[in-house]
Amino acid sequence: MQRLQGIAVSPGVAVGEALIMGNEGFRIPRRFVARDAVEHELERLDDAIRAAGSEIDRNRQAVSRELGDQYGAVFSAHLQMLRDPALRTELDTMVRERHYSPEYAVSRALRRYAKVFQSIESGYLAERANDIFDIEKRLLRNLLGRRREELSQLISPVVVLAHNLTPSETANLSRDFVRGFVTEVGGPGSHTAIVAEGLEIPAVVGTGPFLTDVSGGDLVIIDGDHGLVILQPDEETIALYRHEAEQNRSRAQRLETLRELPAETADGVRVELFGNIEFPHEVHQCVDRGADGIGLYRTEFLYLGCDAEPDEQVHYDAYSQVLSEMRGRPVVLRTCDLGADKVSSDADDARNPALGLRSIRLSLKNLPLFRVQLRAVLRASMLGDLRLMFPLVSTLLELRQAKMVLADVMEDLDEEGIPFNHDLPVGMMVEVPSAVLMIDQFVEEVDFLSIGTNDLSQYTLAADRSNKDVAALYSSADPAVLRLIRMAIQTADHKSVPINVCGQMSGNSIFTMLLLGMGLRRFSVTPSSIPEIKKVCRTVTIAQCQSVTERAMAIENARDIKNYLREELKKILPELVV
Ligand code: PEP
Ligand code: MG
Repeated sequence: MQRLQGIAVSPGVAVGEALIMGNEGFRIPRRFVARDAVEHELERLDDAIRAAGSEIDRNRQAVSRELGDQYGAVFSAHLQMLRDPALRTELDTMVRERHYSPEYAVSRALRRYAKVFQSIESGYLAERANDIFDIEKRLLRNLLGRRREELSQLISPVVVLAHNLTPSETANLSRDFVRGFVTEVGGPGSHTAIVAEGLEIPAVVGTGPFLTDVSGGDLVIIDGDHGLVILQPDEETIALYRHEAEQNRSRAQRLETLRELPAETADGVRVELFGNIEFPHEVHQCVDRGADGIGLYRTEFLYLGCDAEPDEQVHYDAYSQVLSEMRGRPVVLRTCDLGADKVSSDADDARNPALGLRSIRLSLKNLPLFRVQLRAVLRASMLGDLRLMFPLVSTLLELRQAKMVLADVMEDLDEEGIPFNHDLPVGMMVEVPSAVLMIDQFVEEVDFLSIGTNDLSQYTLAADRSNKDVAALYSSADPAVLRLIRMAIQTADHKSVPINVCGQMSGNSIFTMLLLGMGLRRFSVTPSSIPEIKKVCRTVTIAQCQSVTERAMAIENARDIKNYLREELKKILPELVV
């Protein structure tokens, strides 16, 4: 049994067999074989080694012919490793004496070799680990043949272990079979983490290297509440976590009873709870939890899910679906926020993509793309209570430019006789410190505001939200971030401009009292958090929250603020503090 500490990004517990995702993810179908099947399994192993050897030899010949013998030598080295008698003896022993299936034996033995290479402090030898992975893949491909199970065609539950997952890879994980995932890299605010929450599967990121310690088919526990990953757990630990998963389920069921009740504080102040979505199919998660509306529809995921650039109709169809399922409840649609860790932008090559051409900057630079989206938004505005929001606005000029493009598109539609809501509410995200510092001017030019604490924390603290190495610095609880949030809420309140918080912070119940105490009355959260946030709202009074806020704002660092808030929540709702 081995424990790894990572960063908890999506809550819950998953216990399942590992599927290791490399370029290809193979699922080891079974770990053990029956005693009387051993001879047959060893023959299969022989066949696979022979077939893999022929493949490598063919590659060696082709590469030597085209590029010269010195390049073909890479494959000669692979052949030598594959045919190494010591490896063969080790595999035979595992199958014969431990009754491992050949697939499991290959994975275990070769990963152990790779780990040794990786641990040697020499760039050249560490690189050899990749050759070992290559041989492992080739052997597995031959052993599994048609029975090979890839991520796209899973037939039984797994937990996915990967070095990294992009947001779109994460979004494509099958909810029916993928019970959770762990990545070696990644930070707390990455979009991969956000998508995991949307999928409602436990996830841990930023564990550091561990993939050589685990083989496909090994049992793994993912503790998404504490950021823990347990490899090859013992029976006692499995029982403990199964019990915890059961408790989580019953807590969620208890919270579900709040569905029809309003989010109203104990002293009668109504709070609005909206959901955040990335894809139209997530709307039902909001409706099922009794959301007051959608507070953040991240439309850039339309781009991440398609091979081709979505045209006006693709945008329109997606927006219509969301609006029709929301049946008149408000939907805040955010224009594309591509770039940075949400790939597919010219910014990919930039040295510092988070500070480069992302989000509204990209839309304003690429007007045809922006106009296509705005046309679809305006057409869809006839179908429900649609509101438009611009992301990552950093200057007044930028906001005005975006509004001018919108006015221009409106004119085009008028000329074409296409109906739309001429009074479409227009708002902006407050997620760059400059926007907070200029908030008194921004409030004069928008219908509503939404604080994006994920980016606001990243830009305030100059700490990449997707980088595990600065994860300790990246925190929405940092006093500097809290001051900015409070300043934005108070100014908006003063001018009666509606404001909400839609970053991950608002879905974390330890912050609910703090935000209420700052004057926030609208939260937009991951749908699965709605019941918990509602429970806190219904338990507290505003005066109680104000006093918590006052004390929290006097604490000087993020860790102590979080500890204090956790303790305060524990006093009133201990069952919510895991
Ligand atoms: C934010 O930055 O807080 C936010 C909600 O936007 P995103 O996470 O999509 O960047
Ligand atoms: Mg953002």
